[in-house]
Amino acid sequence: MYADICIVGGGISGFTAAVAAARRGEKTLIVEQHGYLGGMLTMAGVGPMMTFHAGEDQVIKGITSELIDRMVKKNKSPGHVFDTIGYTYTVTPFDAEWMKHEMEMMLLESGGDVLYHSMLAGVDVADGTIRSIQVCNKAGISSITAELFIDATGDGDLSAWAGVKCTIGRESDGACQPMTMNMKMGNVDTEQIKAFVKDHPEEFPYLQGNTWMVDMASHLSVSGFAKTLKKAMDNHEFSGRLEGILFFETNNPGEMLINTSRLHGYDATDPIQLTKAEIEGRKQVRELEAFFKNRIPGFQNAVLLQSGPNVGVRGSRQIKGMYCLTQEDILKATRFEDAIAHAGYPIDVHSPDGKETVVKEDMHIKHGTVYSIPYRCLVNPYVHNLITVGRCISATFEAQGAIRTTPTAGAIGHAGGVAAHLARKQGVKPRDVSIPELQRILKEQGAYLFED
Ligand SMILES: Cc1cc2nc3c(=O)[nH]c(=O)nc-3n(C[C@H](O)[C@H](O)[C@H](O)COP(=O)(O)OP(=O)(O)OC[C@H]3O[C@@H](n4cnc5c(N)ncnc54)[C@H](O)[C@@H]3O)c2cc1C
Repeated sequence: MYADICIVGGGISGFTAAVAAARRGEKTLIVEQHGYLGGMLTMAGVGPMMTFHAGEDQVIKGITSELIDRMVKKNKSPGHVFDTIGYTYTVTPFDAEWMKHEMEMMLLESGGDVLYHSMLAGVDVADGTIRSIQVCNKAGISSITAELFIDATGDGDLSAWAGVKCTIGRESDGACQPMTMNMKMGNVDTEQIKAFVKDHPEEFPYLQGNTWMVDMASHLSVSGFAKTLKKAMDNHEFSGRLEGILFFETNNPGEMLINTSRLHGYDATDPIQLTKAEIEGRKQVRELEAFFKNRIPGFQNAVLLQSGPNVGVRGSRQIKGMYCLTQEDILKATRFEDAIAHAGYPIDVHSPDGKETVVKEDMHIKHGTVYSIPYRCLVNPYVHNLITVGRCISATFEAQGAIRTTPTAGAIGHAGGVAAHLARKQGVKPRDVSIPELQRILKEQGAYLFED
């Protein structure tokens, strides 16, 4: 098989990259191990998307935003709603089943293509250039050649295998943020939850007493139940170390996405550890199902709709790119000349040690801060025809805690797709593309970039 641009991974960043490049006339192919697009959003029950905003301003637009606009028109997402946790500005619930369909439609309409059920199996590199990749699927092992490759695997599989240097996890000891086996429960009575929040402000520290905030959105987001959780922990109801109760209403009323299990000490790039994480994750889901039904108001008659289906991975490899985004760049909102995306999501690092996640004072982002992501974080000095997008771009452990969420990963992917097109058009390596031209096309495709 041949493609001008081959993208490994069909999560949010691979999807936006593919649509962006295909809309510029490139023969674009996504290689995806599952039978649908969406990555963590559809395969690991992640949601809502958060956040497209910084303060009042929507700073993530372009293809990522277009996906939501299309879903809003079909009543498959309410769009951006107030965050009733009080953590960030807006959250964007959606219907995960519809998202698979909408992404596929957008990809095919753009002229892009996808090969499902195909996992990366090998990479041929000569003189620092990827000549072809091998994929493993029902037909055996086959090759795909392309001029440009984009790594959108989240874990940086293609980059690492092709010879790009990578780090894993926290710089001091390589520990990663915990994984989570998300779970979905239906038939939840949200009014009972809201009443409990109003009667027990001490259980919901992010709200700082402003419990009226739970009425501010059409869809409920909740973080808290600290005392309730402690009681259950003291009663040995959990085998793992949980840090708090966190759940979000999806597009469907009374359907909650529960992001509460915590799987510590696993490396997602090690298949044995990943398998153990899946097993422990499902065990925690069973424990949580009982906990929610017995202890959380509004869940008495709830039903478990699904676990996972796959365990969710927050962080693993980061490539060592031409620039490494830092915590300081996020907090001070460094203005990069080669900025290709902006975002406002705070630094959100779940403790790798199993302690409660507290945003340290020196990691606080000021309200409304809009930081930038430079193009140099997507390209590397090791492989000439490769661009890396999504959560595994070049960033420190803390900076990755900010840029890892899906709207930002989508904006990064969008830029990667345009850059791959430009590299082909200009006949240069991805790291040498014209930045003003890259930014011009991104804006033409609706992306948000500062005007200087
Ligand atoms: C538990 C959890 C909760 C989260 N909560 C939120 C949240 O509330 N809101 C939010 O916006 N973000 C949240 N995030 C973060 C967000 O989900 C991810 O960081 C984001 O999805 C990254 O996008 P991506 O495109 O880089 O990678 P992914 O979404 O991981 O997509 C990677 C894709 O590549 C495919 N793939 C991987 N390896 C291979 C291979 N070797 N061969 C072929 N295909 C491959 C995968 O199947 C997948 O489709 C959460 C993450 C987790 C784990």
